[in-house]
Amino acid sequence: MKVILRIGVLLVLCLAPVFPAHAGKAPEVPLTTVTAAPVRILLFIGDGMGTAQRTAAQWAAVGINGRLAMDTLPINGWLRTSNILGEVTDSAAAATAMATGAKTTNGKIGQAPDGTPLSTILEQAQARGLAVGLVTNTPMAHATPAAFAAHTGSRYAMAEIAQQLLAARVDVLLAGGENAFLPQGATGHYPEPGTRTDGRDLIAEAVQADYTYVWDAVGLQAAVSVGAPRVLGLFADEGLPRPHVPTLAALTEHALAILSNRPEGFFLMVEGGQIDWACHANDAALTIADTLAFDAAVAAGLRYAAGTENTLVIVTSDHETGGMLLSLSNNGGQAFTMPDGTPFYVTWTTDDHTDANVLVNAQGPWSSLAAGIHENTHIYTLMAAVLTTPPTLILDGPALAYPGENLTFELHFEPATAILPTSYLWTATGQTPLTTSGGAYSTASFTWPLTGTYTLTVTAQTPEVTLTARRFLMLRYHWHTLYLPLIQKGPS
Ligand SMILES: [Zn+2]
Repeated sequence: MKVILRIGVLLVLCLAPVFPAHAGKAPEVPLTTVTAAPVRILLFIGDGMGTAQRTAAQWAAVGINGRLAMDTLPINGWLRTSNILGEVTDSAAAATAMATGAKTTNGKIGQAPDGTPLSTILEQAQARGLAVGLVTNTPMAHATPAAFAAHTGSRYAMAEIAQQLLAARVDVLLAGGENAFLPQGATGHYPEPGTRTDGRDLIAEAVQADYTYVWDAVGLQAAVSVGAPRVLGLFADEGLPRPHVPTLAALTEHALAILSNRPEGFFLMVEGGQIDWACHANDAALTIADTLAFDAAVAAGLRYAAGTENTLVIVTSDHETGGMLLSLSNNGGQAFTMPDGTPFYVTWTTDDHTDANVLVNAQGPWSSLAAGIHENTHIYTLMAAVLTTPPTLILDGPALAYPGENLTFELHFEPATAILPTSYLWTATGQTPLTTSGGAYSTASFTWPLTGTYTLTVTAQTPEVTLTARRFLMLRYHWHTLYLPLIQKGPS
């Protein structure tokens, strides 16, 4: 009797894992087949930053053979900057072109020449669930950030633009320009009184609407530390006074820390907005200093991108300002020296914008589209490509099988354009890693001898994108295959 009982217990113990409560039902197997990467777009705009401004900053900081951070992105192209009429652009028309993919007339913010509002990449990113942010060292309602989230007939309608930026619920707004957020007579954290004639206190309204409001570096750091999802930071009455505090690099880092909490990804535009101001003043020293401060912000963005997968980084400019010229021989221009002591000289041909093409540098998904010479609307095209068709790896194959079966898995890289993987690396539990050739489609077969749950991971590598897809597989005997051997085993 005792023996029979023991056998019974033994049988129950043996059979329990093989005969779950619902033996006939398909087991619960995680069917992870698709890994859609979050979409991360990081757009840097150096306002007024032509090629000479970049070169002057490079010579001053790292010499004639050195490289700035913005020189290290692998894909390079050119942008034509003229407005819809073929005129020399202003920042409003150029930013509208980059934000919406449509050229317009000077002064227009997010509007066609006839006043029709144009949908922006920031709004499209928001509609997809991405977090969005705008960072600049100019006033928040200045033309370049404005064109990404506001729609006005004039860039100078800054009270209206400030109101629209908040109404658009841009998650991160870091800039100067406190004045445009406060009513006339009201002083905030900076000495000049507010300029709003409608009596509205937009800062109070923002706090009411769940924004964390900050006005200095300490407050911004604190907002980041507590994980505030929506931050309005205004660090000056107008543009940030030089030296900019917080620096553009610090603002960029904090914006990234806030925005990267969103699992779907983010869109962030960072403007080095005062390069243009220094160029209008034909002040080469400030132009170089501001271009280097902008480059430090780019470096912060590249550090972030290096720690993630699939972040599109674009560095460009809206137009050149000042017709800046560089010379290695003394032509009577403003004199500077390279780190090795080599002198160079800066002269100017205008105090206004020019129609020179500007550089665009890019890395990450779809960045190969940046190569070549394009209109400035192409920046929108590039960002929209990532937003609408993020690269995805789809891994198909059985989720349940028997030990010893030869199992074939299929891999699809979508969309099948531009940046196809050069190879796929398959790693699976208990298997030697396998490399297959790239392209839009690949396949591989595996055989596992034992029951259990296995993980198959495939990594696709392109110069621009790294994608990973993972799939779980359960191998088990069908119940009657196992039943008989166990019954025979019991009494022995
Ligand atoms: Zn300008």
